[in-house]
Amino acid sequence: MSERLVVNEIYLSLQGESTFAGLPCVFIRLTACNLRCSYCDTAYAFTEGKRRPLAEILADVERLAAPYSAGGQRSAVGGPRLPLVELTGGEPLLQPNALPLMQRLCDAGFTVLLETSGALDIAPVDARVRRIMDLKCPSSGEVERNRWENLKHLKATDEIKFVIGTLQDYEWAKEQITKHQLAALCPLLMSWVTPLQPHQQDKVLKPVPAGQTPITRLDLVERIIADALPVRFQLQMHKIVWAPDQRGV
Ligand code: SF4
Repeated sequence: MSERLVVNEIYLSLQGESTFAGLPCVFIRLTACNLRCSYCDTAYAFTEGKRRPLAEILADVERLAAPYSAGGQRSAVGGPRLPLVELTGGEPLLQPNALPLMQRLCDAGFTVLLETSGALDIAPVDARVRRIMDLKCPSSGEVERNRWENLKHLKATDEIKFVIGTLQDYEWAKEQITKHQLAALCPLLMSWVTPLQPHQQDKVLKPVPAGQTPITRLDLVERIIADALPVRFQLQMHKIVWAPDQRGV
């Protein structure tokens, strides 16, 4: 097996932001991203990483997952096998070998999640993978990068995530939900963005465009309820449990 991937980190933690939030999950963070979202908390993954063979990555996942089968644990009836395995980044789809890695993880029986920015083609991803696709809102500074053709590839097992930091983000997301009838495609997530710590504000990140008004999480929740939006509100769970700037969680 000669394929390789540049990997930033592999670790076991809790899934923090999807309909799977709260479940144990092995994260494979791949290096590099073609976007520079204003709120990005993983700028360290833009360049830091080590080239590793797929076989070695799969072995790491099996090792981290082993305690879940060794004790005979099973997930709840009808639930996914635990731990989940998630490819994240950076942007995992920038590396072509992410595709065979996901295939092999699915073949091994794992429930595989992919976190993707929505700026690259999601069509080649193995159909068994749960794709959690962002639609980048205006405050990210990357709203022009949304690849709208991806919408036609989404299935009920996928998820669309809006990361909301401003009032303008909320209004924009609401408009897209209606315009593209997104609730008919798959579950919709509205995730309130935890403000970055000063030392996380990497100079390579895009600035928040002028004229944006920050939104509090309370304001966001109240608007979602008042507007009867068919979305799942989310906080970045791992940033509440651990320090907001902690890596490897
Ligand atoms: S898509 Fe945006 S938030 Fe995600 S890793 Fe890239 S720059 Fe960061």
